[in-house]
Amino acid sequence: MIHEMAHTAQYEQLGGITPFLEQYLSECLTHGIANAPLEKAAVEIAAHLCQPLLQSETI
Ligand SMILES: [Zn+2]
Repeated sequence: MIHEMAHTAQYEQLGGITPFLEQYLSECLTHGIANAPLEKAAVEIAAHLCQPLLQSETI
């Protein structure tokens, strides 16, 4: 869910869902989904925000 919220923030930064989708899909076609910059940024944000939660569960 945090990953999807990161994409929502990207919509806002890019001026809406249409510009987001144009850039996101272009990046996916150019780089592949795993290496698309917008996708990688969402994965990194989610990992960064979830890391403290994962660490607290192991204590
Ligand atoms: Zn994503």
